[in-house]
Amino acid sequence: MTAKIIDGVAVSAKIRTDIATRVTKLRERGITPGLAVIMVGDNPASAVYVRNKMRACAEVGIQSFKYSFPADAAPQQVLDTIAELNKRDDIHGILVQLPLPPHFAIAQVLQTISADKDVDGFHLYNVGGLVVGDTVFPPCTPYGVVKLLEHEGIEIEGKNVVVVGASNIVGKPMALMLMQRDATVCICHAKTRDLAQFTILADILVVAAGKPNLILPQMVRTGAVVIDVGINRLPNGRLVGDTDFEGLKEKVSYITPVPGGVGPMTVTMLLANTVASAERASGG
Ligand code: NAP
Repeated sequence: MTAKIIDGVAVSAKIRTDIATRVTKLRERGITPGLAVIMVGDNPASAVYVRNKMRACAEVGIQSFKYSFPADAAPQQVLDTIAELNKRDDIHGILVQLPLPPHFAIAQVLQTISADKDVDGFHLYNVGGLVVGDTVFPPCTPYGVVKLLEHEGIEIEGKNVVVVGASNIVGKPMALMLMQRDATVCICHAKTRDLAQFTILADILVVAAGKPNLILPQMVRTGAVVIDVGINRLPNGRLVGDTDFEGLKEKVSYITPVPGGVGPMTVTMLLANTVASAERASGG
């Protein structure tokens, strides 16, 4: 079997065209969707992510505002800025680029963002919404995975889904979103004993562990769907996911490449959440 390679760049482009149309409609009503991006410190990877998000905003007509703080900034300064942004009518989304320096209490920062502007979906209110199935802002990466599955017409209901990785930003919300769509979900993590005995059961395997070559062909059922969220930079500079892509693509039915799979979808769903927030704030 040769897998269909899911083209996240192409799916993203389609969704972004729809988003741009929605932005145009808002602008005709005098509303420009606005996203505030807060960055603390000068982590080079974060700087690239922030630049990409702001560029993507500009391409669909969303206005973005960057707030940069030095690595030794007082947390209160950042909290005060968020409190001001919460009140502004021209800001519909607020995101704090993670990670934050160690002297920040991340939970406190995320809880300060108004749940109505929490376009990353990390506020406890939105996490709770995910649990009870009434999400306001789905977290962008798992939201992107769901959109990829929907776009490919891959049925989720009744499927065995195994999620490898249990972080708050990818693995856990991913599992909840797929459970909400009536999949039977299993979550694995670093302390899971004999990972392969779980992954082999998956009709849909989502991997978000940050470990190159964690998933080998013998760990996956023939014909399974493999979504590789991982992003790893090898010593030779190559960017790879968490799976043996070359080996798996001869065995599975669908697989996402790295780069060009889930990555572009994450930014796209951030744009979608920001526009949805502006639409909601404007009453439609
Ligand atoms: P994270 O916070 O480091 O979490 C990693 C998770 O994987 C943890 O739950 C950990 O288990 C689990 N894990 C680690 N080693 C494992 C192993 N050998 N077997 C099974 N589980 C293992 O990372 P994250 O933020 O979720 O990100 C995961 C990966 O996705 C990273 O490569 C990251 O760069 C990538 N990512 C990509 C996107 C995108 O847009 N494509 C977005 C976000 C993240 P424990 O909980 O037991 O420690």
